Amino acid sequence: MILQLKPGTSEQLAHELAERFSAFCVFDGGHFLLVTSSSQHQADPETEPYVERIQTFTDDMQLSSRSWQKPTREVIVGNSHFGNGKTTVVMAGPCSVESEHQIREISGMLVEQGLGTLRAGAFKPRTSPYTFQGLGKKGLELLLKMKQEFGLNIITEVRDSTHIEEVIEAADIVQIGAKAMYDQGILRRCGKSDKAVMIKRGFGSTLQELVQAAEFVMSAGNLRVLLCERGIRTFETKTRFTLDLCGVAWLKEKCNLPVILDPSHAMGYAYGVPDLTRACTAMGVDGLLIEVHPDPANALSDASQQLTPQQFRDLVASLQPIAQAVGRKIS
Ligand code: PEP
Ligand code: MN
Repeated sequence: MILQLKPGTSEQLAHELAERFSAFCVFDGGHFLLVTSSSQHQADPETEPYVERIQTFTDDMQLSSRSWQKPTREVIVGNSHFGNGKTTVVMAGPCSVESEHQIREISGMLVEQGLGTLRAGAFKPRTSPYTFQGLGKKGLELLLKMKQEFGLNIITEVRDSTHIEEVIEAADIVQIGAKAMYDQGILRRCGKSDKAVMIKRGFGSTLQELVQAAEFVMSAGNLRVLLCERGIRTFETKTRFTLDLCGVAWLKEKCNLPVILDPSHAMGYAYGVPDLTRACTAMGVDGLLIEVHPDPANALSDASQQLTPQQFRDLVASLQPIAQAVGRKIS
């Protein structure tokens, strides 16, 4: 249930009421809100003098639901606008930062393509402890260097709580990976930050679980959340995962958060990524996440799915008319 407090309610009073009625206090669109579980369907009569709107829900998709707020919650990061209905923001880069030379080459290529967001991991959540785990803090330093040199926004992921402060400090968008989607410590900490947060759907998670992960961040106060579909695990083994485009249609209809699609991790093989990316663009989504590496065959992580710079350039050129056909621009 969400109770919207009357205009002019002070922050102190809003927090006092939240405490008294065991609710989360969130400042949203110029109003203080008290947010409780969706199982609560009746407000305490004592709240009446303070409240101007009450809404109940059938499940815990509340702040993120279009039934509460119909327009998409636009997230602005530098020059990038996610969720304005007019742009599809391409976020691209190698799976992992590997060296200064590597990340500079990709940064230069993005700028050349008119793109403004560099995505690369410094702390990698690998499925084996024996593989490359990322450059860690050194990786973050290299990303910051690229931000300064090229003016790019940085999206990079937090793997666990040991480096969460450093990632929040360095990133313009904090990526919470598929395997960390259920880490409530990470979700709550990101909820206390003012950085945009992109939550990737766990490959075994339902859409309901994904939006509830977003509710952890939002109920802690940060409404700048992006949702990313990156493929779910099905019975199919020929491709790495199965990109759930039906799920994307559901998110676009029911949820007010910008939606990002990641065809690279879903497919797992570079040969399928350009076609899938075009299909994703045709769905009119708010952003894309694409992996590109100067030398994919020798990449230290996700080697099979990364595009070469030339493949990436050709892909981006082919996206503009598709985006235009659905009333958007690639940026
Ligand atoms: C990634 O984006 O490089 C990544 C590890 O993705 P996911 O969390 O979706 O597996
Ligand atoms: Mn990857």
